[in-house]
Amino acid sequence: MIQINQQQCNGCARCLDVCPEGAIYLVDERAQIDQGRCTGCGDCIEECPTAAIYRDATEITTPPGVKVQPRESTLLTAIKSVVVTVGTTLLPVIISKIGEALTTKLENKTPQAPSGNKPGRASGKQVRRRYRGGR
Ligand code: SF4
Ligand code: SF4
Repeated sequence: MIQINQQQCNGCARCLDVCPEGAIYLVDERAQIDQGRCTGCGDCIEECPTAAIYRDATEITTPPGVKVQPRESTLLTAIKSVVVTVGTTLLPVIISKIGEALTTKLENKTPQAPSGNKPGRASGKQVRRRYRGGR
């Protein structure tokens, strides 16, 4: 689509003269394009002394009636890829390591049985003796 930057237009009307479709007209000494008549030939772009006329980049290769979505930047794609990789591979490993560390810490905090024998309970030596018939 051909566009005119109104701030750059000086109203010289050269584009009006060159347009084969009569698609350009002046309003308050600023050129306007009738998009319904414009064929996009680009003759007016070459004629404009102030470079006020330009082609809308998103429309260059687009068939009529089809709008092109702007492409995602390469940097954004790379960042997304890194985030996905970290999320799917590293995150489970990190969570597993944290879980192991917590388990180890909790096991170390579990109260240990006192080293002395409790009343009424046989020591390991006594139990072994019972298995051997008191020897
Ligand atoms: S691109 Fe061609 S048809 Fe469209 S306004 Fe310019 S000169 Fe006219
Ligand atoms: S040629 Fe350029 S400066 Fe002159 S009227 Fe057309 S758009 Fe404006």
